[in-house]
Amino acid sequence: MKAFKHFTLSWLVIILFIGFFFWLYQLTKPDYDKAEEGEEITNLHPEVQEAVETLIDRADDIDIEVVITDGLRTDEEQEALYARGREDDRDIVTHARAGESYHNYGLAVDYAIRDHDGEIIWDIHYDGNDNGESDWFEVADIAKDLGFEWGGDFNRFPDYPHLQMTFGLSISELERSYRPPVEED
Ligand SMILES: [Zn+2]
Repeated sequence: MKAFKHFTLSWLVIILFIGFFFWLYQLTKPDYDKAEEGEEITNLHPEVQEAVETLIDRADDIDIEVVITDGLRTDEEQEALYARGREDDRDIVTHARAGESYHNYGLAVDYAIRDHDGEIIWDIHYDGNDNGESDWFEVADIAKDLGFEWGGDFNRFPDYPHLQMTFGLSISELERSYRPPVEED
């Protein structure tokens, strides 16, 4: 009987211990919402939308015209993009399949720059405002200031036009229907 009690007590301590660390881990997780099964995303997340507008304004203040070339992408659009370079001989532009990109959750945009001739360009060295710095990198710096992660900083597959806000959620969490909360105001 005494041995049994001892055994139970040890397990109780272990379970409490695990529970404590699980609770600590939960504290480190961001607030999130859980989407309904099959719930569609139809817009950029409002915080992303607001940050994009601020980015365009701030770039405009230093004479850079930012053009948003891509935002929310449906699963079909993502698959079409994934096929590019795999099913034809164009360049591969993404390693993400449907559901594997922050674009699919309204949490990413791609930008380009409109030069002084009105052309949309992807030249990361263009210095249209003539301040000795590449406009592309200046935009990336402003974006990072606003809380975006910039694709140019990705080690494995740098993606210079890409900006995303993850809200601390991984793709696998998003695939399991976790969503950043939307602040009501
Ligand atoms: Zn992108």
